[in-house]
Amino acid sequence: MPLGKTRDKVVQGLGRARGALHRYTRVRIAVAVAFTLLIAALPAFGLLRFDLWGGHHESLGQELGLVETAKRFAFPFLAINLAILLVSRFLGRYLCGFVCPYGAVARLGEWLRFRAKTRRDRAIGIATLLGTCSLLSGITFSFWLDWRVFRDGSALAIALAASFLLAMVTSFYFFVQRVGLGFCRNWCPSGVYFALLGHDTHNGIEFAHPSSCTDCGACDTACPMDLKPRAMSGGAYRTGEGFYPDGLSNFSLCIRCGDCVSACEGTNARSAEPTPLRMGFLPEGARNSGAPERAEAQS
Ligand code: SF4
Ligand code: SF4
Repeated sequence: MPLGKTRDKVVQGLGRARGALHRYTRVRIAVAVAFTLLIAALPAFGLLRFDLWGGHHESLGQELGLVETAKRFAFPFLAINLAILLVSRFLGRYLCGFVCPYGAVARLGEWLRFRAKTRRDRAIGIATLLGTCSLLSGITFSFWLDWRVFRDGSALAIALAASFLLAMVTSFYFFVQRVGLGFCRNWCPSGVYFALLGHDTHNGIEFAHPSSCTDCGACDTACPMDLKPRAMSGGAYRTGEGFYPDGLSNFSLCIRCGDCVSACEGTNARSAEPTPLRMGFLPEGARNSGAPERAEAQS
């Protein structure tokens, strides 16, 4: 299936046929900004931070030892993971589609590549993506190390801290540029876990109005997971790739990103008929209809 450039055109072009940013894109941007601010606030206000260089670990504004800070870190970490687990079990992989910071940056990279028509655009795109990767790496750095290491640290400490920061920025940037959403499609270990967990949730994509479908194929092309959005309710299963085992349904693999709905709404923008695809709460018949062994493998 043609992905990459074709997918970009469908999502960014047709999906925006009504002029403004699609509502899913707006939600995604709002979540990404809120999430980034929240994570940045933790070390910035001493709510939770480690200092593997100077030993000034902090929790809720209190300076503590490494073990005590780690203990306080463990509880919210476990609670957040439990919440993620429950959300994925009952709602599906919305976290992959709307919350995951890697997914957000990969989408930004995709959008910048699509927008780059000239050499100048490409340079701006590279600078924007590098800036974003640097910002997120800087926030991660602040969580583990005190920036004063660059002012007061020994030559060795400065070299180690600089290498850590540089390694984060470059690996993040090249991964986003080279692998992008392919990581979510084939290699994300959390994604495999969520897919196995949420194989029959009550939320997802529904081919609600097949009679208004023009069979344009935009939804198939737009899907970053290489799925068949019109065949969500069982019956079509993807051959395993990357870390994903064989036999997972479209429904399990779907990250609930809404790109197919966005593309479908774009292609049907001038039609008086109801949009064929929708995302949200599913009626009983539209849910994943069963176990992989009951379905034929998708060719
Ligand atoms: S089927 Fe639709 S919502 Fe699911 S991953 Fe593909 S584009 Fe996203
Ligand atoms: S569901 Fe929508 S996007 Fe997909 S083929 Fe039909 S009209 Fe095109």
